[in-house]
Amino acid sequence: MVSTLEIHPVQHVEFDGSLIRSLPQSGPRYTSYPTADRFSDSFGYKDYLHAVSHAQARGGRHPLSLYVHIPFCDTVCYYCGCNKIVTKNHDKAATYLGYLKREIAMQGKLFAGVNQVEQLHFGGGTPTYLSDAQMDDLMQVIRRWFLLVDDEQGEYSIEVDPRSVSVERIHRLRHQGFNRISLGVQDFDDAVQKAVNRIQPEAATLNVIRAARDAGFRSVSIDLIYGLPKQTVISMNQTLDKVIAANPDRIAVYHYAHLPHLFKPQRRISEDELPSSDAKLDMLALCIRRLNDAGYVYIGMDHFAKPEDELAVAQRQGRLHRNFQGYSTHAEADLVAVGVSAISSVGMCYSQNAKTLDDYYDHLDSGELPVVRGITLSLDDVLRRFIIQMLMCNFELSLRSLEQAYPISFNAYFTREIEALKGLAELGLVTIDDDWISVTLKGRLLIRNICMVFDRHLHEARQLQSQTGVPLQRYSQTV
Ligand code: SF4
Repeated sequence: MVSTLEIHPVQHVEFDGSLIRSLPQSGPRYTSYPTADRFSDSFGYKDYLHAVSHAQARGGRHPLSLYVHIPFCDTVCYYCGCNKIVTKNHDKAATYLGYLKREIAMQGKLFAGVNQVEQLHFGGGTPTYLSDAQMDDLMQVIRRWFLLVDDEQGEYSIEVDPRSVSVERIHRLRHQGFNRISLGVQDFDDAVQKAVNRIQPEAATLNVIRAARDAGFRSVSIDLIYGLPKQTVISMNQTLDKVIAANPDRIAVYHYAHLPHLFKPQRRISEDELPSSDAKLDMLALCIRRLNDAGYVYIGMDHFAKPEDELAVAQRQGRLHRNFQGYSTHAEADLVAVGVSAISSVGMCYSQNAKTLDDYYDHLDSGELPVVRGITLSLDDVLRRFIIQMLMCNFELSLRSLEQAYPISFNAYFTREIEALKGLAELGLVTIDDDWISVTLKGRLLIRNICMVFDRHLHEARQLQSQTGVPLQRYSQTV
């Protein structure tokens, strides 16, 4: 018998610095389409209920993905752009937990009968800000209202801060039902850690990785960031040596987006310590080369995985999906997200919870889910979401399959987009024939620029800007 790995060649990506420099530098990350800046305040609780009742009525097997947001952190990392609350007063977490459990019960009642969960993710903030007992309690409540499939079938992941967990805690998390773990590392270099106020001894990270393996976690993922203050190509190379030796299953290499006008902690980063654009591109090129050489497959955007990891397998089988937590193997699942600021994706809508604790608590006190904004997708949105998903996850799009699934002629419907794609084809990012749009190896790193072609809302915002001067939403850099 021939293994899947032998049939399908490993995915690759090619770094082309001059091409990257020649393209627009910022754009959405497309964890959703339409992107979150298109959500409207006119969307509320009742619209969400409507979407859920549609999901209930459609019948069949529709497993859920559940996201739980724990917003608290003990200290602030200066590069952070997350929605978090930095406090050492752990009583705040106890209050939050009370409300979170109420929200879970309300969502559980709504999804009664169609409440099978195949994917659970705890993110933040710092999920391990909760104590062992609080986590036990929370998992019990989740299990009371949702049916979690068994450990073999389910993907149950948690983001862990290696600075704040012991070996025992890792074993306890496994016992509580988690089987995948994701660790924030960012950089092993002492000077970089000091410059971003995140002192994390290498031994603490390696101990957590070892403990996760011993405890039977099926996947260990590490997050790195390039572009941080004091980072150099040499220090990045040393960090990569250590990361590769630690042998995680997945590695995410994020670009640091310095947007101090949006994220207050970043004002404490000294701009003259930031690496230049050229140095950052050198770091990215280095990461790609080192991870490729170490046998990691490029999944897309910032993600690399071992060829046998579920993400890489799902990509080869065309089952990869992208949602608010990044890449996922559960394409069909509605995403139910609980906690302050969390974003759900149910049926044809996206909905977001209140962003402040007070607002979040007020809604729950009045007996309503804390949904404050969102969007109901039009058929055009659904079509474009499908195209963007295909390009981001598979790096290709079959035009014939698209025309069979949707009542359109691609050439007639996407005249403007085809012209824009021809420009990208001349630059070598894509190839186009009668049936396929395919992203080239060097186009893969610039996938956001390619997807932007199909973003109707972005196109309209740009038109409005050129006519009226209304400024565009600011996005992070595409590479
Ligand atoms: S990076 Fe993570 S741990 Fe650091 S402040 Fe942000 S959410 Fe908290």
